Amino acid sequence: MTYKIELSSDEVPKQWYNMLADLPVPLPAPKNSEGKDQIAALQLAFTKAGLEQEFATDRYITIPKEVRELYMEMGRPSPLVRANKLEEYLNTPAKIYFKREDSSPTGSHKLNSAIPQAYFAKKEGVERLTTETGAGQWGTALSLACNLLGIDCTVYMVKVSFNQKPDRKNIMHIYDSDIYASPSENTKVGRQVLAENPDHPGSLGVAISEAMEEALENEEVKYSLGSVLNHVMLHQTVIGQELKTQLEIAEEEPDVMIACAGGGSNLAGSLFPFIKDKIEGNSDTQFIAVEPSACPTLTEGTYDYDFGDSNGFTPMLKMFTLGHDFVAPSVHAGGLRYHGMSPIVSLLTKEGYIEPRSVHQKDCFEAGITFARNQGIVPAPETTHAIKATIDEALKCKETGEEKTIVMNFSGHGMLDLKGYASYFEGTMQNAK
Ligand SMILES: *Cc1c(COP(=O)(O)O)cnc(C)c1O
Repeated sequence: MTYKIELSSDEVPKQWYNMLADLPVPLPAPKNSEGKDQIAALQLAFTKAGLEQEFATDRYITIPKEVRELYMEMGRPSPLVRANKLEEYLNTPAKIYFKREDSSPTGSHKLNSAIPQAYFAKKEGVERLTTETGAGQWGTALSLACNLLGIDCTVYMVKVSFNQKPDRKNIMHIYDSDIYASPSENTKVGRQVLAENPDHPGSLGVAISEAMEEALENEEVKYSLGSVLNHVMLHQTVIGQELKTQLEIAEEEPDVMIACAGGGSNLAGSLFPFIKDKIEGNSDTQFIAVEPSACPTLTEGTYDYDFGDSNGFTPMLKMFTLGHDFVAPSVHAGGLRYHGMSPIVSLLTKEGYIEPRSVHQKDCFEAGITFARNQGIVPAPETTHAIKATIDEALKCKETGEEKTIVMNFSGHGMLDLKGYASYFEGTMQNAK
């Protein structure tokens, strides 16, 4: 029986895979909104390396030696595990594998992009990075990465999550960063939002605007985004490349691959190297993106140009969007409460390579609890979305008798999200939509 497939440290990929090189149709370029030049402002907000990678078309981009070493120090490669107990419990002929991105010290895949972003910032002489965070996973990862590389870090955390998850603040303090609940009094954008609505719950869009404002106004400060942009998708592809090697060792060809989608980065990271094969006609794996019904960007949004933030600091990106002023209901999966979606993930969905699906909050927590009771690991609320779809697919196999191989990206653990589980058990959890 297969339990887990581990790789050695020297099997950490030496290059990132760039999906931009293999897209079936070209990615629509970002554009300015009328009368503004947000594209020029990008130079002020982002590191040079980040921007260069954003538009790079090389198929593979070398991972700097220092970054690769930090990946190893922080525990990469991550294990691939066969969910034997869950299979048994579901009584399914399907084989279920999950890639353990929760095994990173900060508990999610986010460190895969935080490390290179902090590295390039340090190299370019940046003194401080600012960022947004939803559930807190990205803020935590960037705090650690900045600390490892010796630069300062300021995090704007969406207020509803800030209040739901006080331990997130504690862990970011441990890693020595400054944290503010967003909207905050720190920035013009924050003060304006608060003047209009003192009880604003915050949104990723507003938090991004606050963090970007600081970078636009201070030369020594740059802004770092934890998802959505092409260079973040690029960094995350260490997951999928490792996964390829691990599935080869297991002698498995995935029939179905599943990831949750907030801004698209864990999905991109785990799936892009496999979607490449499909585009080239060498596979017919099915790819499923799972999102909350409370924030149904891919399933109900429109594919159009929109800003990445609430204030219009970012250029307009062609993506699936619910509108940049969309404020999602306060579901516990804070990392999935974003109005937009990675332009590349959006395009691949539009072109039919990725199949989007939305699921309800309570069903996700139920699936997460089933997973924890069988496999031991308590999943992050975001990850429960992928688990729900995985269980649904495995149960379909039970009906049809198909022995499909289902591979899921386990984006993070929920040990700092136990309050969400508490509200499930207390019966106070609602399906926001
Ligand atoms: C941030 C986060 C997500 C959602 O973001 P993506 O960019 O879509 O991956 C999902 N799961 C976890 C654990 C996260 O921290």
